Parts: sequence; C-alpha cells; structure tokens
Amino acid sequence: MAVKAKSGVTRPRHVPQRTCIVCRQSDAKRALIRLVRDATGRVAIDSTGKRPGRGAYLCHNPECWTLALRRHAIERALKIVALHPDDRAAIEQRGRQLLQETMPTASS
Ligand SMILES: [Zn+2]
Repeated sequence: MAVKAKSGVTRPRHVPQRTCIVCRQSDAKRALIRLVRDATGRVAIDSTGKRPGRGAYLCHNPECWTLALRRHAIERALKIVALHPDDRAAIEQRGRQLLQETMPTASS
C-alpha cells in the first residue's frame, strides 16, 4: 500500500497580502494600520496587529482614513452593517492624528 508522503514538498508559507482598503496600495505589514472587528461587531484600531477577529488595513495616508469613512469601505471590508459611533470617532481621530504627523511642523 503506497501512502503518498507529503515530504519533499515545500509548503509555501501563507503570507496574506496587506492592502489598504481605500487606495489598494500593498505594503509591508508594519506600514499598514490594522482595524479589527470583534465578535460583537465593534471595530478597533489594532496597533499590535495581533488581536483576533476579521481585519482590514489602512495605510498612513490620512486621506484614506477620511475616504474609508465616507465610502463605507471599513463596513464593507469588515462585513458590518454600520460602524459604532464611538468606533467611527476613534477612526476619525486617528485620521486627524495621521494628518498632523504628515504635516511639516509649522512651529519654531
Ligand atoms: Zn491608502
């Protein structure tokens, strides 16, 4: 009886492609910010990238954050009906933060 051995086959490591849900720009995992949906349908910004749940990625371009909210890209990507107002506020906040980070400091 011949049992087909699985050895010798180099199993490709599953590396999911991280892509910004708005601009579709792929980048290294580090360069994209993960949003994660938990079991209750709440969405959080996952700064560790290790939280369980369905994830979606946004790049560091503040415009993508604005557009993600405007176009309901997050809802689509995470398969939720609507963002919780608190979660939406947190995402808006992060977008503003990114905007500040990308703007050259006007002071001094
Ligand atoms: Zn983007």
